[in-house]
Amino acid sequence: MRIGRVPRCKTVVLVIWLLWVAIFFVGTPAGAAPVKNLIVLIMDGCGDEQLTLARWFKGAPLALDDMRTGAVKTYISDAVIADSAPAATAYATGIRSGSGIIGLAPPVRNIAGLPPAAPALALKPQASVLEGARLLGKATGIVVTCRISHATPAAYFAHVRSRNQEEDITEQGVYQGIDVVLGGGRRYLLPTQLGGSRRDQEDLTAVLRSRNYQLIDKRLEMSGVTGPKVFGLFAMSHLAPEIDRPDLAPEQPSLAEMTQKAISLLSANKNGFFLMVEGSQIDWACHANDPAHLLSDLLMFDQAVQVALDFAKKDGQTLVLALPDHNTGGLSIGNRRTDETYDQLTPELLLAPLKKMRRSAAALWQSLGEDKSPDNIQKAVHQDWGVEITREQAQQIADLAKQYGKEGHYALGEVICAHYTHLGWTTHGHTGGDVPLFAYGPFRPVGLLDAQDIGRLSARALGFDLETLTLRLFVDATQAFPPEAVHLDHTDPHNPVLQVQHQGRQAALPINKNLLILNKQELPLEGLVIHVAETGKTYLPLEAVHLIRGESKPLPAIAK
Ligand SMILES: [Zn+2]
Repeated sequence: MRIGRVPRCKTVVLVIWLLWVAIFFVGTPAGAAPVKNLIVLIMDGCGDEQLTLARWFKGAPLALDDMRTGAVKTYISDAVIADSAPAATAYATGIRSGSGIIGLAPPVRNIAGLPPAAPALALKPQASVLEGARLLGKATGIVVTCRISHATPAAYFAHVRSRNQEEDITEQGVYQGIDVVLGGGRRYLLPTQLGGSRRDQEDLTAVLRSRNYQLIDKRLEMSGVTGPKVFGLFAMSHLAPEIDRPDLAPEQPSLAEMTQKAISLLSANKNGFFLMVEGSQIDWACHANDPAHLLSDLLMFDQAVQVALDFAKKDGQTLVLALPDHNTGGLSIGNRRTDETYDQLTPELLLAPLKKMRRSAAALWQSLGEDKSPDNIQKAVHQDWGVEITREQAQQIADLAKQYGKEGHYALGEVICAHYTHLGWTTHGHTGGDVPLFAYGPFRPVGLLDAQDIGRLSARALGFDLETLTLRLFVDATQAFPPEAVHLDHTDPHNPVLQVQHQGRQAALPINKNLLILNKQELPLEGLVIHVAETGKTYLPLEAVHLIRGESKPLPAIAK
């Protein structure tokens, strides 16, 4: 059959083109089927200027370039400049929280222009996209180059008042049931008695083994992992900067290798998966004003994006989001040296000093050992960064380094970039501008978004509701039971336990775990038991409330 005189193939092309236009400009239609998989890749502490520099350095387009769809506002409930904890909390839970807070609603205090938070909600745990994906039967994964207990990954699986509670965060991560965890931070799995950092003396490696995890700590062991569950922590603390990895830590995998492995394990789940990947050290490189560390880690992050993109293109049911959580360092291409000459700055001039850098500033500084004399600094900078700095500049670095204490290496980039590169830096801290947003696949967001929109659209794309999930996972114990029936047992101060008495039943729920011990029987729960010391409140999953009360009510459905 023909429509008028237009040949059929042209009609088909026209219809496809109109559909494409409709989807591009209107977004994914309401009621569209959820995506099977979601991959969120976060470049910590990054912005457009870093990406432009990385593209020049690579000499070719970035994997990210074709995915640019918009930007994200990064301010938080109590400051115009975010740290990673509330920034990632917004992406993970859809709630804009306050400085240092992981996976909890903000305290009541709020900066001007924002409505104050409701007191009953202050510091209440907020369910995350990872928790929702898990309850939908999907596989879940975390891949980072920092300790897994660092702020950005933590926001996806933990709920604590302070990002510094790394013991609690790691414990919650272990009991969260995440299928694939690859990164650093082994020291928080082990008690101090076994050379680790856990003061509660729990051996979480034993817990992981009892839950059928494969535990690995070397790159070569990755290929032997068949899944479904693996904890691969390749360093006691953070992984090495990418530029130093081949020399200093060849036993560690790269971010792209870990991403590849995670996707191949997670995609075996027929219900789909959620994966969060972080280029954790882009932020630290910018804190240090260190172009060597920045470029190697950012280009490796881009390779991880390529891995995710290749999978998503083949799969067709995967949403990929890639974005920074905030910006760091105030990098500019152009500095005071280029005030009068910026119109003559060729790519060759821009790149020449950067191509001579063979180590991160941190590794260069470390290599000095105890001898931080100007002579030794001059020699090491010549050897590792290829520039002959003056005696005065070496002295300036030595003096500045004393001021920076344990961040002594910050002095290198600060002095050397100003004199020998065409890069400017304004701060060793974070900055408050909007950050670029990259996306590919169904439900791809377009335009200028609030940070918390990322969490909400992640849940919407996966087909569930975060607010219902929060009601299901975090019930205030004193609202579920009479206050006199509930108490927090601090007999072991490092391992508090929520005790509940109900109609002759005795229930114990250890904090940071997903366990209910009811009449001496241990039952696994679908969510964690969380205590917030600042408010004195303890939260438990609704499932536990029902079990303690002996009720067999259905739990609220989270799928939309
Ligand atoms: Zn930072």
